[in-house]
Amino acid sequence: MQFVNKEEVKEAIKEYAIVEGKSIKFVKNDNFRVIAKCTGHKYCPFVMLASRIDRNQFTFAIKTLSLEHECTRVDRLGYCNAR
Ligand SMILES: [Zn+2]
Repeated sequence: MQFVNKEEVKEAIKEYAIVEGKSIKFVKNDNFRVIAKCTGHKYCPFVMLASRIDRNQFTFAIKTLSLEHECTRVDRLGYCNAR
């Protein structure tokens, strides 16, 4: 799965989090990689890793995606950063 840029990746993850009612947090978010994890449960296996295909393009591709969850739905979403 590919995205035109990093913002598209983040939007897709946020939308997923809202639809699924999951608390997804970006643990890594720089110009080359975005890693999102679920904070709903300590051992929740959900993970998403997207990185740039090559340094000359802004295109991001999903490299790792595990949609498995061990957590339950959360009412209060905390996928945004600490602020
Ligand atoms: Zn989860």
